[in-house]
Amino acid sequence: NAPLTLRDIFVAGRAHGDKTFLVYEDDRASFEAFGRATLALAADLVRGGVRPGDRVVIAMRNLPEWPVAFFAAILAGAIATPLNAWWTGPELDHGFTDSGARVAIVDEERWARIADRRAGYPALERVLIARAPAAPGTESLTDLIGPVPAWGGLPEGRLPDVAIGPEDAATLFYTSGTTGRSKGAVSTQRAGASGVMAHPFSAARAFLRRGEPVPAPDPTAPQKAALLSIPLFHVTGCFATLVTNLHRGGRLVMMRRWDLARAMALIERERCTSAGGVPTIAFQLLDGMAAGTHDLSSLETISYGGAPAPAELVRRLRTAFPAAQPATGWGMTETTATFTHHQGEDYVHRPDSCGPPLPICEAKVMDPEETPLPPGEVGELWVKGPIVIAGYWNRPDADATVFRGGWLRTGDLARIDEEGFITIVDRAKDMLIRGGENIYCGEVESVLYEHPAVVDAAVVGIPHPTLGEEPGAVVAIARGAEAGEEALRAFVAGRLAAFKVPVRILLHDEILPRNPNGKILKSELKKLF
Ligand code: ATP
Ligand code: MG
Repeated sequence: NAPLTLRDIFVAGRAHGDKTFLVYEDDRASFEAFGRATLALAADLVRGGVRPGDRVVIAMRNLPEWPVAFFAAILAGAIATPLNAWWTGPELDHGFTDSGARVAIVDEERWARIADRRAGYPALERVLIARAPAAPGTESLTDLIGPVPAWGGLPEGRLPDVAIGPEDAATLFYTSGTTGRSKGAVSTQRAGASGVMAHPFSAARAFLRRGEPVPAPDPTAPQKAALLSIPLFHVTGCFATLVTNLHRGGRLVMMRRWDLARAMALIERERCTSAGGVPTIAFQLLDGMAAGTHDLSSLETISYGGAPAPAELVRRLRTAFPAAQPATGWGMTETTATFTHHQGEDYVHRPDSCGPPLPICEAKVMDPEETPLPPGEVGELWVKGPIVIAGYWNRPDADATVFRGGWLRTGDLARIDEEGFITIVDRAKDMLIRGGENIYCGEVESVLYEHPAVVDAAVVGIPHPTLGEEPGAVVAIARGAEAGEEALRAFVAGRLAAFKVPVRILLHDEILPRNPNGKILKSELKKLF
């Protein structure tokens, strides 16, 4: 009875009963209470006219109502459509018009950004506002399901009587918009469920590879608790954290937004067993560890992905948190969940890699003529498997660009070794060519990170009249550290070929600007040159 749909995952998760599932500030909801609130909302959506395939927008920050809205939409047979809570009015506008949502479940702040644009969304029939009284033309979600502490007292509820199959569209997530306008990516029920189901096999394979027995799950072990410090509206927060913990009975300790001091207090209070999200967060946890103000000894795993993680990060984690396993992964909105998984000793020994594909997926590296390249050579990464999206929403042009006979072209440059371990070297769009020589920004950034004074680094192309582009770097320096532009250039020159050494290095005293998914906004940095 392996779950094939996200509805199956919901049903399996509910069986964790009275254990705590969601923790947000002083609110706590058990798996059962979460299940009741979700079924109540799902029934109401169906009564209100939601039909299979309709889009239900979820536009709110990380609140306990987010998972309720997400699963209620799915149980109603709709396509759950999370929008980026950091988006401004015009960006939210794109999400509403592009998806043609019939229902929106929002928080007050998001609604304030778009309320006066509502006339532009003719398909939108219902707006439910979480944690606020109804505003004109909207309904209050709290009137429907009550505040979090009351969820356990709701009627038991039933699954709506709608047909849901593994190949039905379940979610519509928007890409981060790092390389252009954000695109809607449609994942099926099966994609959402199978990414989550494949993870334990991925972990088991790492033991088998080393010839060690796979440890059996210990039913008496204390409940796992994940610090959720990344947004739920991206696939990592939603699938790798929310859906995974619903399935395995883990507690989700939700943060409204990332804040190191708050995160450390929560890890200590809730005895969190995992934390992380994106590489920047892992770097900051290292600072927190060094400060020694909180007991972080409950952490068993520090995991991150979604953006390049320099090899230096895993080395520093090993030294500072020897008891916690570092873990990383590569994925994209178009792969629904994390496509690779890399953990523990495997990761420590191959710190540049993001791991092998999930056992249910395949990867290959292709040259520009679309012929496969042998192990070790750099080309475009193509991926395949049940977690890959069915297609983009309303973007046949984008579908035509990325799909090739069942494979998805990722736009990332990578190499794969003899054993199947993938190393991402750069985004194809970020790579620069200096007078015919390829420069992968990630390689130069990794070297900069090895310098003890460097806390953040980004390499970008600076236009050059004859060479095409030259590398430039923006680097954040640790407070109180001494490192000038020339010293840093000399440091890189001692480790990389001369053509890769940034011709200019701009020093910043703050962490570099990033989007909520931890990706450095390189287009902003280019302007500095
Ligand atoms: P858009 O496609 O709209 O331009 P985006 O590609 O940033 O934005 P996402 O789907 O959120 O949108 O991000 C996927 C991308 O993130 C990958 O293609 C890759 O470039 C990067 N990425 C994810 N994980 C890793 C990783 N472990 N190492 C390096 N890069 C990563
Ligand atoms: Mg992308």
